[in-house]
Amino acid sequence: MARHKRPKLAVWKFASCDGCQLSLLDCEDELLALAGAMEIAHFPEASRAMLPPPYDLSLVEGSITTARDAERIREVRRQSRLLVTIGACATAGGIQALRNFRDVREFTAIVYARPDYIDTLSTSTAIADHVSVDMELRGCPINKHQLLDLLAALLNGHRPNIATHSVCIECKLRGAVCVMVAHGQPCLGPVTQAGCGAICPGCTRGCYGCFGPQDTVNSDSLGRAWLRAGKQPDELRRVFHTFNAGAEPFAQAGSKYDQDNQG
Ligand code: SF4
Ligand code: SF4
Repeated sequence: MARHKRPKLAVWKFASCDGCQLSLLDCEDELLALAGAMEIAHFPEASRAMLPPPYDLSLVEGSITTARDAERIREVRRQSRLLVTIGACATAGGIQALRNFRDVREFTAIVYARPDYIDTLSTSTAIADHVSVDMELRGCPINKHQLLDLLAALLNGHRPNIATHSVCIECKLRGAVCVMVAHGQPCLGPVTQAGCGAICPGCTRGCYGCFGPQDTVNSDSLGRAWLRAGKQPDELRRVFHTFNAGAEPFAQAGSKYDQDNQG
């Protein structure tokens, strides 16, 4: 019996920990339905079967940290009708973008016995800094429900319903007590895009900003409030410079409190 032609899905890895690809494999209950609706054409983490391009949809995890990867993402873009970046590495450069604020040779000298073997760029950058991106899913890692919503929307030809409000809204919806008000802890919820369900505030911890800056951030105001509450500048730098350190609003906010790099 002739089989209905399914759109071809490719999943690519650049500099990353694989956690976002695992979020796709973690869709256990939905994975068979997904494999029925889309042809999994290139997904080395899941299958040795590799079908040639073109691909209808490429999901791209990871950031650009080598000259070879900067070439490779252009090849991926040419081979893909739609390209969606998944996770903080792909959308903002990831935790590895901390190198953007220092000399990467300092890090390689500390970590590797033979740093002279390491051939890397001095920065870690988002995929959108290199090629055009059709859509992005934030998070470290991404939320699998957002991923399924995105895939279902693309299959059915409508826009996915990805929230762009702040984590504070999710926090209030789950009825969590505000850790800033109640415990004086720094929390990035007011300036971070929703998507995680406010997991950390729900566990009485400040938001780490895994989903990156929300659309209309006011990091200056948040930083001033923390300073008034007695926080130290270096603590503020560390809060802003984590998984989404490379996202412009967080990069700027963290650098403002970086006393090592003040002139
Ligand atoms: S965004 Fe986080 S979970 Fe995803 S690949 Fe990067 S480090 Fe791993
Ligand atoms: S705990 Fe954080 S996310 Fe929740 S309301 Fe307070 S500032 Fe917002």
